[in-house]
Amino acid sequence: MAGQGAFSEIIDGDVFKYYADGEWKTSSSGKAVAIINPTTRKTHYKVQACTREEVNKVMETSKTAQKAWAKTPLWKRAELLHKAAAILKEHKNPIAECLVKEIAKPAKDAVTEVVRSGDLISYCAEEGVRLLGEGKFLVSDSFPGNERTKYCLSSKIPLGVVLAIPPFNYPVNLAVSKLGPALIAGNSVVLKPPTQGAVSALHMVHCFHLAGFPKGLISCVTGKGSEIGDFLTMHPAVNCISFTGGDTGIAISKKAGMIPLQMELGGKDACIVLEDADLDLAAANVVKGGFSYSGQRCTAVKVVLVMESVADALVEKINAKVAKLTVGPPEEDCDITPVVSESSANFIEGLVMDAKQKEAKFWQEYKREGNLIWPLLLDHVRPDMRIAWEEPFGPVLPVIRISSVEEGIHHCNASNFGLQGCVFTRDINKAILISDAMETGTVQINSAPARGPDHFPFQGLRDSGIGSQGITNSINMMTKIKSTVINLPAPTYSMG
Ligand code: NAP
Repeated sequence: MAGQGAFSEIIDGDVFKYYADGEWKTSSSGKAVAIINPTTRKTHYKVQACTREEVNKVMETSKTAQKAWAKTPLWKRAELLHKAAAILKEHKNPIAECLVKEIAKPAKDAVTEVVRSGDLISYCAEEGVRLLGEGKFLVSDSFPGNERTKYCLSSKIPLGVVLAIPPFNYPVNLAVSKLGPALIAGNSVVLKPPTQGAVSALHMVHCFHLAGFPKGLISCVTGKGSEIGDFLTMHPAVNCISFTGGDTGIAISKKAGMIPLQMELGGKDACIVLEDADLDLAAANVVKGGFSYSGQRCTAVKVVLVMESVADALVEKINAKVAKLTVGPPEEDCDITPVVSESSANFIEGLVMDAKQKEAKFWQEYKREGNLIWPLLLDHVRPDMRIAWEEPFGPVLPVIRISSVEEGIHHCNASNFGLQGCVFTRDINKAILISDAMETGTVQINSAPARGPDHFPFQGLRDSGIGSQGITNSINMMTKIKSTVINLPAPTYSMG
């Protein structure tokens, strides 16, 4: 159970504590932020509303702890990460329960998220040991005009304090995808979890605490992003921001100072289906890609662009699968569960009503109860409809019928987003040409877009992001290069 057993020290009465200086603390604000269960629409948990003074204190201890951590042997850092990963996996059930209650994640997917996060942490430890265990050695005589009088030794060093801000949909996995690389690279981390998902994140942080990480190295401050977000992202002690979320990331990028930014933002991932595609494979991927976790995934299939000649057949196959999706509470492991908030459900409804008014074909009747929206396939969608361009983050999938591949590519590239895309065809040559033409961070051939496996590079173009994630890229991003140049009195050549 949440806040019980191994987790009993992280709660004070009915309010979860925040984590600073190696201890679980109650905020001096005396205020709590309510976390609404998306299924019952009632307050389920409460977290501390941290103050600016508490953030300042956290930044101070984080700076001090980082200096000592940077001098901790790499193998020891790795050892602690492996320990945290094992503890996290051991406690997968109570953490998964939080995910079910806070963000209505289907029960089995919630467990998978925690286990995947443990694996991610272990992979960071192993990748970090190899990547950071070596540097570069350069000699000067390869550049014109130079003798061999300079030896340059360069290696990767930590940035300092990394501010990690994940979104609600993977509050554990997207938190550890920042924590793991940051820590192995010798940084300290200040985590600001999403409000919906904060309790899952606090449990995850406690697993790092139990593993025995040094005091102050990891901190977790809670509170509404709209209230403490700017103070955190503009704090002078922060040396790097790793953010995953929506348009908030664009605003943060404009306000942040001269520090490295890793931004993983929204997507409108297109699925292009050609005439020669395996339509059963395409339909299975469209439904899995479009409706898993009720469409609340950055890499969900968010628009299908299908060649007119196979559109009827594809839509029929998609519909047959949509009819089999189970709808209901996350505790029963239903495929479609309530979306995260009432405002999110209202936003989705706005997109649906716009499509209705503009006469899209509805394959199912629109149905909503509270935050629960039944899966909906919208056919004959046209570019003048909002759903053709906007990210619903819900179980609503638009289909646009296209008369040429160029039309599909044009639609994909006209989007503000450029996260992922996918193409279904049996012709690998066509697939490669289309992949090259699609202006997105990744193109999947004959499969739905996906962020994992977590060590693959993951990046978005345009409003979908800055930089690249994936374990190796994140470790690289959270370090900088330091060189030492040895200047010799005379040219020297080592002889064979
Ligand atoms: P969001 O509203 O942008 O929130 C993301 C995080 O930012 C939350 O922790 C939020 O805290 C915090 N925040 C809010 N205002 C802030 C501010 N002024 N300064 C600093 N932080 C602030 O996104 P979301 O609704 O949680 O997630 C959905 C979005 O994330 C979608 O657009 C989705 O596509 C995107 N996403 C992208 C990826 C990717 O890797 N590309 C992966 C997953 C999701 P509060 O919860 O307290 O407001």
